[in-house]
Amino acid sequence: MKKMRLILGDQLNSEHSWFKEIDKDTLYLMAEMKQETDYVKHHIQKVVAFFLSMRNFSKSIASLGHTIHYIKIDDTKNLHNLEKIIANCIEEFEIEKFEYLLPDEYRLELQLKTIVTALEIPSEVFDTEHFYSSRSELKEFFEGKKTFLMETFYRNMRKKHHLLMSGSQPEGGLWNFDHDNRKKYKGEVPIPKEKNFNRDVSEITEQIKNSGISTIGTIKEKDFNWPISRAESLEIVDYFCNHLLKHFGDYEDTMHTDEKFLFHSRLSFALNTKMLSPKEVIETVIDFYYKNKDEISISQVEGFVRQILGWREYIRGIYWKEMPDYAQRNALDNHNKLPNFFWTGETKMNCMKLAIGQSLDEAYAHHIQRLMVIGNFALLTQTDPNEVDNWYLGVYIDAIEWVQMPNTRGMSQYADGGIIATKPYVSSGSYINKMSNNCVKCHYNVKEKLGENACPFNSLYWNFLDEKKEYFKGNHRMAMMMNLLKKIKPEDLANIKERSFELMNNLETI
Ligand SMILES: Cc1cc2nc3c(=O)[nH]c(=O)nc-3n(C[C@H](O)[C@H](O)[C@H](O)COP(=O)(O)OP(=O)(O)OC[C@H]3O[C@@H](n4cnc5c(N)ncnc54)[C@H](O)[C@@H]3O)c2cc1C
Ligand code: SF4
Repeated sequence: MKKMRLILGDQLNSEHSWFKEIDKDTLYLMAEMKQETDYVKHHIQKVVAFFLSMRNFSKSIASLGHTIHYIKIDDTKNLHNLEKIIANCIEEFEIEKFEYLLPDEYRLELQLKTIVTALEIPSEVFDTEHFYSSRSELKEFFEGKKTFLMETFYRNMRKKHHLLMSGSQPEGGLWNFDHDNRKKYKGEVPIPKEKNFNRDVSEITEQIKNSGISTIGTIKEKDFNWPISRAESLEIVDYFCNHLLKHFGDYEDTMHTDEKFLFHSRLSFALNTKMLSPKEVIETVIDFYYKNKDEISISQVEGFVRQILGWREYIRGIYWKEMPDYAQRNALDNHNKLPNFFWTGETKMNCMKLAIGQSLDEAYAHHIQRLMVIGNFALLTQTDPNEVDNWYLGVYIDAIEWVQMPNTRGMSQYADGGIIATKPYVSSGSYINKMSNNCVKCHYNVKEKLGENACPFNSLYWNFLDEKKEYFKGNHRMAMMMNLLKKIKPEDLANIKERSFELMNNLETI
């Protein structure tokens, strides 16, 4: 029977059991489509990285002897729509069975279900063999529970997969080393430059432009630095183990004006496209730790394992538990627009200028920049979660809805009403000052709440708490902040709110 197997752009798992045997009657289908480039405006580096990784993947599979039908973005016969492409290929290649891998996005899940229902040939769906947990594992784990704490899920994953465990106890005696992982970087140790592949990508950039795809952000066409093959992705893991792991945990939450990547791994793109599996990354890192225990402390490695085994799997579980309703949530009833500087980086707020500028230049910002600078600002200015989601989904190289949306709408914007975060991640300028050197050269003064030069985060923070106090009145994790709010004298609060309204009405110029 002649069958066709679809491989989507984020399903580049060359270790999948599909590829173990070569069958001349199996045709693999891959397509670069406008359907995928145009549902939101993406960063140019994201489009380039996806297409180049797909092309490399198809070449590596073909070199093993598999037959691939690959449609490039500028192919004149490209129909740019999954349904049309599948129908066309079934006819052209006289396919008798259609097979696909479980997509990770709800949008594609619905589309593929609709497509296969209408097909006249049989179809079958397979697991991607990528994640530790199944789509429904988190839902089953929390069945009947009122809270869905990541920590509870993570500890269970550690035990279940016996990772960083000594017997039934966590390695190092603690499950959580977060208190060790909050250092501000002050140049104590040198930060190795990120691993770069110095690739010339001008040809594909041209193809993307000529295909009429509109993008955001900038690209260094002669010096592209993201991994676009499994071999390069493995090099990044190796680089992380040898150069970055020993300080990963310590400086996980810090920010610095001169450092874009600090000790972060830059593995999210390789993981989310499935060029790497979370299992091989975690096992390699733990193995490296066991062999280098005299140099690497448990807090560094636990901090890293928590991100992938904990957060990444947890976020995916929440997505599949809560979709499709999740995409509509706006618990705090926020409706403002993002200011234009989200697309230019032109603002006087140094922390925002750096975090947004870096996002536009590198298609990357690390977790704290995404959460406590950009996300914090969007929430304090009470932005519509749809606006925030679209920006995050477009700008980051690793943004795929299943991981982007719960992080943005849930963790950072509290639009899910507290499913992921038990309290909103908001702060005044003092948190940013504590964790970075960003405030030193800022136009604004981080210590001031009032006046033209006062840090915008300060008045926006107290105004946010005041405006949302009814919503949070039963939230005991917010009690301390709400008590501090109550202690502000009415006339002082009125002045803070006035400064905040002024800022909100002039967002384009702050
Ligand atoms: C508002 C917001 C939006 C985000 N959007 C995305 C997104 O679209 N795609 C994405 O992959 N991550 C997202 N994250 C999580 C995190 O910021 C990125 O995974 C990380 O910055 C990627 O850089 P890195 O590979 O250097 O990560 P490292 O700091 O080196 O961490 C190692 C790995 O852990 C995983 N990880 C860490 N935190 C998370 C998390 N919260 N959720 C899922 N995986 C995590 C990633 O796979 C990452 O590669 C978001 C976080 C926030 C707060
Ligand atoms: S002073 Fe305020 S706006 Fe400026 S960098 Fe610090 S936190 Fe950001």
